[in-house]
Amino acid sequence: MSENRIENVIIIGGACAGYTAAIYAARADLEPLLIEGFQWGGQLQNTTEVENYPGFPEGIMGPEMMNRFRAQAERFGTRFITDDATRVELSDGGIQKVWVNDDEYRARTVILAMGAEPKRLGIPGEIELGGRGVSTCGVCDGAFFKGRDVVVIGGGDTAMEDSIFVSKYAANLTVLHRRNDFRASMVMQDRARATANIEFRTPFVPEEFVAGDDGALDHIRVRNAETDEVSEIKAGGAFVAIGHIPGSTLVSDQIELHDNGYVKVEEPSTRTNLAGVFAIGDLVDFTYRQAITAAGSGTRGALDAEWYLRDTPPTDEEKIEAAEEARIAG
Ligand code: NAP
Repeated sequence: MSENRIENVIIIGGACAGYTAAIYAARADLEPLLIEGFQWGGQLQNTTEVENYPGFPEGIMGPEMMNRFRAQAERFGTRFITDDATRVELSDGGIQKVWVNDDEYRARTVILAMGAEPKRLGIPGEIELGGRGVSTCGVCDGAFFKGRDVVVIGGGDTAMEDSIFVSKYAANLTVLHRRNDFRASMVMQDRARATANIEFRTPFVPEEFVAGDDGALDHIRVRNAETDEVSEIKAGGAFVAIGHIPGSTLVSDQIELHDNGYVKVEEPSTRTNLAGVFAIGDLVDFTYRQAITAAGSGTRGALDAEWYLRDTPPTDEEKIEAAEEARIAG
């Protein structure tokens, strides 16, 4: 065990939600311990310019924004472990245990903030052209494609929503989907189909994002899923909108999840089904998924943990542990 103390709060996950929770918890004198992950910063670490976060009228680069969130959490006394939590033992109202490899950390509350990852197609050019035409977030990046021909890949509600949003900026927008049937709700599909500059093309499987001479996306090589015929679609921008994977693996056998793998909370609070365990940000949110909504959720998580600590007397187990800590401290 790396430290004997029982923390007030351990936060797992260093990105918008986790850093915001840390800022609030630190300012409430809870001395939070933030296990931020080896690759901290979350989805914003792979984002270029953020133009929709209030307070930055000129915009800010995603990684720079995460540096600032982190620095603000540090300023108020957050302690960081820049590594991944590898195991947890969650309790319903008792001591919460978190491991980073062989080091065990204990706390009266834990705030889960492991986020979600956009699903990738796994085709050539997808990563290489990230920030140069290929994006996973229409609401974040749509405005960068004013007057361009744009493709949105996917057949779910996210693809429809991204298409409707991005079509306000794009000259023409193509929804490209691998099947003729769509997973999206009828209402969202109808809305997209009724938009003048949106067309649907199915059943097409994207095979490669191809750059032009300027190094930015020029076209997408696609295969017709019925005929196997390969063709090209010109595109100044492409949005991969094929779903997200929540980072809930660490806790999936210990806490209540939705069928889609996101952690269940008692909205509008961040309380999970286990007393003393809270969950925030994209780990619980499959609707809004914005930096600002994740940050807002981080605030709620820290306040929920603070109120829990205020209102919940220590258990007998905690009292014994505290006495032992005091004895060791002399
Ligand atoms: P989703 O419903 O899982 O849809 C993902 C889409 O991407 C599917 O059409 C799927 O095709 C396609 N896809 C997946 N992997 C692919 C691959 N490797 N290559 C090509 N296509 C691929 O995900 P979502 O659209 O992100 O929605 C997730 C949840 O959030 C849903 O419950 C949705 O209703 C909800 N949501 C709601 C709203 C809203 O109400 N405003 C907005 C956004 C999301 P197949 O159909 O062939 O599998």
